Amino acid sequence: MATSDRTFTVFGAGLAGSLMAIYLARAGHRVHLYERRPDPRTASAERGRSINLALSTRGIDALERIGLAEEVLASAIPMPGRMIHSPSGELTFQQYARDGKQAINSVSRAGLNEILISAADREENVEIHFDARCTGVDFDSGEASVLDGASGQTRSVPTNHIIGADGAFSGVRSSMQRRDRFSYSQDYLTHGYKELTIPAGEGGSFAIEKQALHIWPRGTYMMIALPNADGSFTCTLFWPFEGPNSFAELRTEADILSFFKAHFADAVPLIPNLVDDFQNNPTSSLATVRCAPWNVGDRAVLIGDAAHAIVPFYGQGMNASFEDVVWLDRALREHPDDIALAFDSYASARKPHADAIADLALRNFIEMRDLAGRRSFRTWKKIDQAAGRFFPESYIPLYDMVSFSTIPYADAVEREKRQIAFLKRLGIGIVVAIVLVIVASVFFWAFNR
Ligand SMILES: Cc1cc2nc3c(=O)[nH]c(=O)nc-3n(C[C@H](O)[C@H](O)[C@H](O)COP(=O)(O)OP(=O)(O)OC[C@H]3O[C@@H](n4cnc5c(N)ncnc54)[C@H](O)[C@@H]3O)c2cc1C
Repeated sequence: MATSDRTFTVFGAGLAGSLMAIYLARAGHRVHLYERRPDPRTASAERGRSINLALSTRGIDALERIGLAEEVLASAIPMPGRMIHSPSGELTFQQYARDGKQAINSVSRAGLNEILISAADREENVEIHFDARCTGVDFDSGEASVLDGASGQTRSVPTNHIIGADGAFSGVRSSMQRRDRFSYSQDYLTHGYKELTIPAGEGGSFAIEKQALHIWPRGTYMMIALPNADGSFTCTLFWPFEGPNSFAELRTEADILSFFKAHFADAVPLIPNLVDDFQNNPTSSLATVRCAPWNVGDRAVLIGDAAHAIVPFYGQGMNASFEDVVWLDRALREHPDDIALAFDSYASARKPHADAIADLALRNFIEMRDLAGRRSFRTWKKIDQAAGRFFPESYIPLYDMVSFSTIPYADAVEREKRQIAFLKRLGIGIVVAIVLVIVASVFFWAFNR
């Protein structure tokens, strides 16, 4: 039952928007949730969006606060580490957490979205409008234009407070872009991605290790695979769009097969529809979107990919989007009588952390596609995790801070810098101590001959 006299209009019933609607309803607000697509619970899935996602601590925390974590995790597959596939087919497992126990979780995007939409639908204060696309917002009058997919008619919808949760190509953000002093950048990677499928074996068995995120690092490109609950794996090939060795070059069946046999030989027998998947699945682009400010007074605010689309290499886009919801909910509870202040304080507090995870995600592409396959990097990871076990209170490896804690992203980056400086000092200290022991031993031996 609505206990506040406020009505929020959320555009986008994807992952962040449907979660936001639940949080707002639980806070007693009335919510209108508009989604461009038909109801995904009755329509078939869109081809070309990632099929599964890695859910980690930040996302789980946001789900736990509204009692949905258990339902989501019931069908998730824990991935406590990554399995590296070398060009010769050799396998090496690298645990993610310093204790080797914590795991990121492979969840179905469609399944998670349906759980969230159903939970929003169960809230008395939430009204969901499917097939309803926001095509523009007049922030002065509060009128939003909504295109009805079934009739093709655009209607004007009055709003008080808008939450733009309409993804990387946000309509709400496009309207903000037309305002003065709105900063915006969109940087595309030269790499795109294509999804391929390793089907389940007999009786739903898993063809490769179930509890791992599989990586085929190949220097300038890579393929990854995440397990699905039905025994299949969704592989994603990250590869340049153009140039030598690129999507543009691989066209014929013979080209595709010879490329895969040369670079991903152990995966070829696992992907029976390789050529068909490759030729017919879309090649999608990856971009980092940064913008500011995220809000227009008390009229509108952005969350999730609409505010900060990032590349997927840290598995944090959804997790960060869920964390946005927690932070915005907190700001609204702290400033119940001043929505402009709530939006402002959420946006200014959150933005540095969104920028930090955007940078980390770009950096992790190099770690995954190149460094993860190198022995020197694996040694560094072992030292990093050993330091985390030896100094459990004062040293937390960056991966643990990002994936297994809710330490704000920018704070994690700063803390990592101090930890590396500490390790360097420790290393120098150990070398100096060893040298002193050797010198002392030599003197002792010389004087006692
Ligand atoms: C290949 C790939 C792999 C990824 N892997 C991971 C991962 O492992 N872990 C992780 O945490 N993140 C991952 N991500 C990122 C994650 O998918 C996004 O960060 C997350 O979906 C953002 O949620 P969102 O609700 O902001 O946007 P979306 O999930 O995109 O939802 C936006 C919703 O708004 C709707 N919409 C769009 N325009 C309008 C409009 N004008 N009016 C009304 N509705 C509209 C859309 O139909 C959609 O339902 C991955 C992304 C990609 C591309």
